[in-house]
Amino acid sequence: MNVQTRIARQAPALVPARHDVQFGEFIGIGPNGNLWVDGCDVADLAARFGTPLYIISENQLRHTYRAFRDAFRAEYPDVEILFANKSNNGLAIRHIMNSEGAGGDCFGAQEMYMALLAGTNPKTLVLNGSNKQTDELEMAIANGLCINIDAMDELERIDDVARRLGVVADIGIRLKLDLEPLRDRMGVSMHGPGTLKQQSDSTKWGMTREQTADIVRRALTLPTVRLKETHFHLSRMSNDPADFAVMAREMITWSGYLRDHTGWVPPCIDIGGGWTFGKWYGTGPNSQMDDQNAPTPADYARLCCGAIKDEAAKLGLPLPRLRLEPGRALSGPAGVAVGRVGAVKQGDTRKWVNLDISTNHLSWAAVLDWYYHALPVVDAGAEPTETVDLVGPLCNSDEVGKHRRMPALQRGDLVAFLDTGGYTESSAARYNAQLLPATVLVTGSHAEVTTEREQLKDAVGRFRVPAHLLAASFAPAE
Ligand SMILES: *Cc1c(COP(=O)(O)O)cnc(C)c1O
Repeated sequence: MNVQTRIARQAPALVPARHDVQFGEFIGIGPNGNLWVDGCDVADLAARFGTPLYIISENQLRHTYRAFRDAFRAEYPDVEILFANKSNNGLAIRHIMNSEGAGGDCFGAQEMYMALLAGTNPKTLVLNGSNKQTDELEMAIANGLCINIDAMDELERIDDVARRLGVVADIGIRLKLDLEPLRDRMGVSMHGPGTLKQQSDSTKWGMTREQTADIVRRALTLPTVRLKETHFHLSRMSNDPADFAVMAREMITWSGYLRDHTGWVPPCIDIGGGWTFGKWYGTGPNSQMDDQNAPTPADYARLCCGAIKDEAAKLGLPLPRLRLEPGRALSGPAGVAVGRVGAVKQGDTRKWVNLDISTNHLSWAAVLDWYYHALPVVDAGAEPTETVDLVGPLCNSDEVGKHRRMPALQRGDLVAFLDTGGYTESSAARYNAQLLPATVLVTGSHAEVTTEREQLKDAVGRFRVPAHLLAASFAPAE
């Protein structure tokens, strides 16, 4: 194993890598014409670690986090950024986030366990979930996480566990905002049809105003709980920062309602994730929208913090601490995924380039075949000469990139997909009994495996055959 002897005690200063063409601060086309992630040639990484491969740039992740943090700090006195761990729940990623001072949003016992295993300060972690299990509540309460309540019986269940453990539990409440001002606003077409309001109204998430007030009144009588925050997350992305500002404002309106009906004012509001990012080459969630015109962290910060301050002043409320939970916006730009070309097939009207990377590994591509920007790794800036469908090996159509302009690709070539740091490894599938890829973390010119490539034993090791089937599952010999 390659052990780095230099132990960073402080988050490092970041010097963006200088590439001839920049896809991110640390990702671009290097002097030899290949795609580079920070100080590593992606062709070398593929040769060394195999394909399909996920690559994460540590410095890009840090850089993007700091951009978000600094933008919000410039607009608001008390901001905390909670990385949505589910977007990339690798242990190394969590360690990087810890060293940046980022908190985290956990879903379920395993994500919570992994965040705690990585040494995250539990006071910076929240547990979300619509159906939390008792052992999950117990883990959260024993370790001091804030639990965002999202069911009417949850408070009593927390009270039971906290009583049993003899501790006081931190709690928040997940809201279902009205979002009336977003009744006609369409978000990005990632999560099905409907306006932002329709989406929010129709999901299982969040409690009504009356329910929230009931929970607060009851919580105020319980010595076992401490009310910490209200929470909202609309899992539908919008490229308009004004939409997020509407949600932020409504959180404060809700705080006013709670003050008037319960006397409690939330000291912290958590406005969740769904934050997007733009790239000059245009990438998902919509290659037409998520380009250089997409909002920057500064746009989000200005509008959201402005709305919060304005509404708080109107209602005579103190400014709460502000929490955000970006996932994809932080992890996405840090990742590059690489596949190797196999069979190339020319049909009458189309050409297919088979890769060893599939929609198992780029799950958003299964829904949106235009989602990831793709380019060759070697001679990455070569003029495109043809339109091809980039496909994986799976038994469905498995289009990881449809109608892509590419230079001529041949067996053995490498194709990279950009901005794949979020929701790829963490939502990878094993369909067709395919093995999960490895992940390498690139830090300057150093690269190291942070997720081992899955092996055959991992794929078959969970299967069992009942004794009566062992020697009886074939037709008897004639
Ligand atoms: C998924 C999720 C996030 C992150 O969403 P992104 O779109 O990745 O920013 C944040 N908070 C909660 C509660 C979530 O479920």
